[in-house]
Amino acid sequence: MIETSEGGRDVDRMEFLLTLRRRGIGDQAVLRAMDEVPRGRFVDEGFAATAYADQALPISCGQTISQPYVVAYMTEQLGVRPHHRVLEIGTGSGYQAAVLSRLAREVVSIERYRTLAGQARARLAALGYDNVEVMVGDGFLGCAAKAPFDRIIVTAAAEEVPQALLEQLADDGVMVVPVGPHNGPQRIIKLTKSATADGGGIAREELIPVRFVPLLPGQAQEL
Ligand code: SAH
Repeated sequence: MIETSEGGRDVDRMEFLLTLRRRGIGDQAVLRAMDEVPRGRFVDEGFAATAYADQALPISCGQTISQPYVVAYMTEQLGVRPHHRVLEIGTGSGYQAAVLSRLAREVVSIERYRTLAGQARARLAALGYDNVEVMVGDGFLGCAAKAPFDRIIVTAAAEEVPQALLEQLADDGVMVVPVGPHNGPQRIIKLTKSATADGGGIAREELIPVRFVPLLPGQAQEL
């Protein structure tokens, strides 16, 4: 079998894309980005053999890299265009940020663990994805200094939609966020901000059920 330089066998990477298509991902740009970013480079070496299976995997600090289908689904729902500036909350491994970087002009990603942020920065730099900035901080607060953002994606489950993030969304902006109790049933919520004469409004759509690690307040005290 042919081993690619990214650790995955060619057959696994073909199956990876086929699974995404079969499960309903139809946006060609999203499929191209999922094809381009080597997931094997974002998981610990011990998991390289299963990097292209459609499953979440453990990463440092007790966190997880999301299942590829959920990454592709949320990215498709976000509707990223090449001129967009995107904010991600929950950098984790940096994989979702890498996928977004192939579709957007600029990505700002916030992580509460210094260790994860450092590892993600190193991986993104090694792959030459230089339009991503990884910051250590509390994602509940977003990044007012760089707002507004055309698109916002949260990759940890919030009990309620974080208000500061809604405020940092541009007019006609879209945000996707898993909402629900920690360790309970959660759903991806899609919020679209419209700019109208009477002050605008937020349209809310409930999407698929998911299971994410919790969005926790504050920067992590541990590394
Ligand atoms: N998008 C990631 C997966 C993230 S797992 C990937 O592609 O690998 C969720 C991440 O959110 C974890 O790394 C967790 O530490 C982080 N997180 C949780 N609460 C946070 C907060 N308030 N601010 C920033 N990051 C947070």
